[in-house]
Order: sequence, then C-alpha cells, then structure tokens
Amino acid sequence: MLTIGNYVKAKTLEEAYELNQARNSRVMGGMMWMRLGNAKVKTVIDLSGLGLDKIEESDNVIKIGAMCTLRQIEESEALRNLYGDGFAEAVRHIVGVQFRNQATVGGSIYGRFGFSDVLTAFLALDTFVELYDGGTIHLSEFVKRKPDKDILLSIIVRKSKRKFRYESIRQTKTDFPVIACAVVTGIVHGQETWFFSVGARPMKAELVDKAWEIPRDASEEMIAEYARKAASEFTYGTNMRGSAQYRRHLAEVLIRREISSILAEER
Ligand SMILES: Cc1cc2nc3c(=O)[nH]c(=O)nc-3n(C[C@H](O)[C@H](O)[C@H](O)COP(=O)(O)OP(=O)(O)OC[C@H]3O[C@@H](n4cnc5c(N)ncnc54)[C@H](O)[C@@H]3O)c2cc1C
Repeated sequence: MLTIGNYVKAKTLEEAYELNQARNSRVMGGMMWMRLGNAKVKTVIDLSGLGLDKIEESDNVIKIGAMCTLRQIEESEALRNLYGDGFAEAVRHIVGVQFRNQATVGGSIYGRFGFSDVLTAFLALDTFVELYDGGTIHLSEFVKRKPDKDILLSIIVRKSKRKFRYESIRQTKTDFPVIACAVVTGIVHGQETWFFSVGARPMKAELVDKAWEIPRDASEEMIAEYARKAASEFTYGTNMRGSAQYRRHLAEVLIRREISSILAEER
C-alpha cells in the first residue's frame, strides 16, 4: 500500500526541486503507476501548477511538458504532422482513454520502464530530456542513468524530415507489450540512416542505428534480411509473456513490416 504524509502543490520549480531532495519525497505525475506501489512517502510533490502541461512547436523542436498526458500525445497535431500516426499507435493500446488522460509523459519517461511503449517511441527520434538540475541531455543517455532526485521538465524532439513507424504485440488488448518496435529513417549528415528502437524485450528500450541505403524497390527477401540483421542487434529475455526466442522472432517481423511500410510510402 502507498501511504503519503504531506501533499504539496509546488508554486515554483525551485520549491519542487528542494522538496524532492528529501530521501522519502516523490514527485507525482499522474500517479497511475506510483499509486500501485508499496511505499511510505513523506511528501508528494504535485507539479500540475507549473505550466508543464503544454506541447509547444517552434521552427526546430517540439517541446512536450512533463505533465502532458499520454492522451495529449495521441491527439497532438504537431506530432501527427511530422510523424504520421506513429505516436498515436504507440500510446493507443495503453489501458484506455481515461487512463491516458491521467498518465503523464514525464512519469512514463522518468520511470524508464522495461515495458514502456512511450520510451520506445521517443527513443527512435532525435529526442532530448530537459532536467531541472541536470540540463538538457539526449534521451539515449538519460535511459542509461539510474533514477535520481532531479525533476524532468520536458521532452524535446528535434524536428527533422524522418519517417516513423511504431508497432507492438500484446497477448491481450491493454496488456503490457510482449515486444515494441519503432523504426525511423532519415538523412543524417548526408547519409540515409535507419534507427531501430526495441522495447519490452522485456528490458528498457535500446536504440541501434544503421547507415543503410535500402533500395526503394527492395524485394521482400532483401527487406527480411535487413530486418533479421536489425533484430539480431538486441538481446531478448524470457518472462511470463514470452520467451527470448519468441520476442526475437516478433521483433524481426515487426521491423520487416515497418521497413516495408516506409519503403512503400516512398515509392
Ligand atoms: C495497469 C497499467 C498498465 C500500463 N500499461 C502500459 C503499457 O502497456 N505501455 C506503456 O508504455 N506504459 C504502460 N503503463 C505505464 C503508464 O503509461 C505510465 O508510464 C505510468 O503510469 C507512469 O506515469 P504517471 O504519470 O502515472 O507517473 P507516476 O505514477 O505519477 O510516477 C511514476 C514515477 O515517475 C516519477 N515522476 C513522475 N513525473 C516526474 C517528473 N516530472 N520528474 C521526475 N520524476 C517524475 C514519480 O516520482 C514516480 O517515481 C501502465 C501502467 C499501469 C498502471
């Protein structure tokens, strides 16, 4: 059971950060995950009054406040215009609309959960996290860090012309994914580059990039070979939802479908 001593709605980021330095203080996002845990929290710090609930687009970036909900991601025109249905697909299987109206992007990314669709999707793009104390760092670096007492302020996606696809497999609707895969392609420093982010392996999402120029008229066999190579770059584990071997097979299938879908759009 979760027990909470004090609730504080922070008036400034500085106040939130200072309060969070106490050993048994916790920042709250939507509380959807935290409320299921077993902990005695002395002070829970609510960030909802600090204006972190907006998705802002500028010429170079899309900035998503940590308190934005997963539903805001699903419905964001800015993300849809740049990346098609990819983000909506990444979050739409997470429990239900009411749940997604509460669970936050900040809680999802800060948690670095091994099952996270949200992390898998953002990792595939040129994404940064803005921290109160730790500055702005690349998401791929943040993922590797251990949770600390910093506060996640926003997720920043650097805009670039990239194609984005997302797919996951679940044993039953609304369950955690058995595997989650995002494939992104774009030109990086003049070179066609493919990014593969695979999560729920069942470990935290990881990112692999390949300087591959896949011919737009590649045969199904060629695409399957690229997918096999990409999927073999990751390690897979076994849990109650599936074996390592099954996950690897699923990753290969999803990556193949996603590459095919991107190539078909460009033909
Ligand atoms: C039943 C269930 C099913 C789920 N299924 C899926 C799924 O299929 N796919 C998926 O991707 N996710 C899934 N999730 C996870 C969910 O999407 C959210 O990631 C999760 O609920 C955390 O978001 P939250 O806003 O509720 O965070 P909270 O529960 O409030 O916080 C989570 C952690 O993050 C910390 N935190 C929150 N915000 C910040 C911040 N701004 N700065 C620093 N620390 C912060 C908190 O202190 C806490 O430690 C599921 C969750 C549940 C409960």
